Amino acid sequence: MNIILFGPPGAGKGTQSKYLVKKLNGYQISTGDILREEIKKDTLIGKKIITNMNEGKFVSDEIVNSLLKNHVFDPKKKEKLIFDGYPRSLSQAKNLDLLLNSSNQKIDYIFFLNVDKETIVERIKKRKILEKRSDDDLETILKRYDTYIDTTKPVLEYYSKNSNFHEIDGSMEIDEITNKIETFLNV
Ligand code: AMP
Repeated sequence: MNIILFGPPGAGKGTQSKYLVKKLNGYQISTGDILREEIKKDTLIGKKIITNMNEGKFVSDEIVNSLLKNHVFDPKKKEKLIFDGYPRSLSQAKNLDLLLNSSNQKIDYIFFLNVDKETIVERIKKRKILEKRSDDDLETILKRYDTYIDTTKPVLEYYSKNSNFHEIDGSMEIDEITNKIETFLNV
């Protein structure tokens, strides 16, 4: 079963995907984590990534798509992909369709965790203290939220027509969101 968790930064995608990884024996494909790993390696691509991330901008589709490919084609991850933070643009959504098609896979569920700006700001402030993430200052947070909403509108339209698309109120407690997801998955 392949699942997409969709929603603005701080909506709880990471928390829910970690839960799903355990429950379904899956693999979390967090492009944010993949990009941060690349930064740690201090490669030329890593340097480009850090500039975009710190400005609250999206990293280019070219870079993200190329880093994602190996995960989708990894045989051990087949039918066990939990996408967290990908796709974030229409071109990424179409790229994902192509990659999945060519590896004989599909998306089984898309969960849209919908949360307003105020809730996100409060949550990310807390996360900054807990996780000490370098890209988590308030200005960046607001920029990321706005960028996310603007850029992902077409992705939302693209997926929301599908019968496997489910919108969930992401301002609910973690457990309540998990319960909703479980109900849809029937697990
Ligand atoms: P996240 O950990 O998902 O909140 O992502 C942190 C940052 O990584 C974002 O603000 C973007 O700069 C970048 N990023 C993560 N995923 C993507 C993606 N699918 N496309 C473009 N940029 C991304």
